[in-house]
Amino acid sequence: VINFSPGPAKLPEEVLQEAQKEMLNHDNVGVGVMELSHRSKEFMRILADCENNLRNLLTIPDNYKVVFMQGGGTGQFSAVPLNLMALKPGHKADYIVTGIWSTKAAKEAEKYGAVNRVITKMDKYEVIPKQNEWNLDPDACYVYYCANETVHGVEFSYVPETYGVPLVCDMSSNILSRHVDVSKFGVIYAGAQKNIGCAGVTLVIIREDLIGYALPYCPVVFDYSVQVGNNSLYNTPPTYGIYIMGLVFKWILTAGGVDKMEELSKKKSEAVYDTIDNSKGFYSCNVDESCRSRMNIPVRIGGPGGNDVLEDSFLQGAGKRGMISLKGHRSVGGLRISLYNAVSFEDVDKLVTFMKEFMNENRH
Ligand code: PLP
Repeated sequence: VINFSPGPAKLPEEVLQEAQKEMLNHDNVGVGVMELSHRSKEFMRILADCENNLRNLLTIPDNYKVVFMQGGGTGQFSAVPLNLMALKPGHKADYIVTGIWSTKAAKEAEKYGAVNRVITKMDKYEVIPKQNEWNLDPDACYVYYCANETVHGVEFSYVPETYGVPLVCDMSSNILSRHVDVSKFGVIYAGAQKNIGCAGVTLVIIREDLIGYALPYCPVVFDYSVQVGNNSLYNTPPTYGIYIMGLVFKWILTAGGVDKMEELSKKKSEAVYDTIDNSKGFYSCNVDESCRSRMNIPVRIGGPGGNDVLEDSFLQGAGKRGMISLKGHRSVGGLRISLYNAVSFEDVDKLVTFMKEFMNENRH
């Protein structure tokens, strides 16, 4: 089976095989990682390796802390304002809303401060308005954006300029798929279940000077200073999720690092976009070319509005060939092709071959 799921998503086979091999006995301790105390020296090593490998992969500067939290991306929709809304007296934040996930983040942040949506609300999320049209507030505590809107397939190809205001980024669905300069960010976070592991653990990278401003009612598990101060061990962390994430980081390092993942994601997504663009309208992707995602590609069949019969038939045909989880999000319809790091070029080649066959059989 080839899994094109938007998340929880495909994991590298080598990672799962390694986890399987160690399921009952990690590193000759006699028990598996799930059964290890989070204070044991073996787990401490897993945690330290995981962080060090990530630091290596992203060249994270020394003035940034890394923590592993629970609560997923949605937990961070709350944790970000709870930790940063008091950075300045006005308790204001700027949100660049480009899809469902940044919409939800902005709505949650309104509980804790004043939210300024820097771009005019769009009916459809198919384009990112140019930076010179944004209404950024120089007094904002932070500027928030989602690097890749997983549902709409809208991805930033650049890092927004915020003129000194700390930048917060949700990288849940594209982290480690392209080079990023961490020093441009205040906070980066990512739920693991798309590109870096299994559901249950959330990676958070925080610039040191932004720690220590949590609102007094911030739940202790979401307080960045508590999590950083306790090396993610204030409470029991998602130990198995951290272990799997560590294996994924090792897999990426062995495969050639972030540069290799970037090269591959470009190649994989181009193969799909080329098929769409050369289909003379049989397939369409309604997202503006300037912000087409390399990770999640929404596709309609039979015209930009889609044809339900053709789309169902495509999904059935793909399923018969072992290609699963290609159905589009209910709010967008059609198909969605997710191409995270663990999806190989060969997987994409099979899909593209089927797309061409299906087109030849069904175009009138
Ligand atoms: N942010 C992005 C970009 C997502 O794709 C998702 C989930 O798909 C979330 C946040 C929400 O994450 P979670 O379900 O882990 O709360």
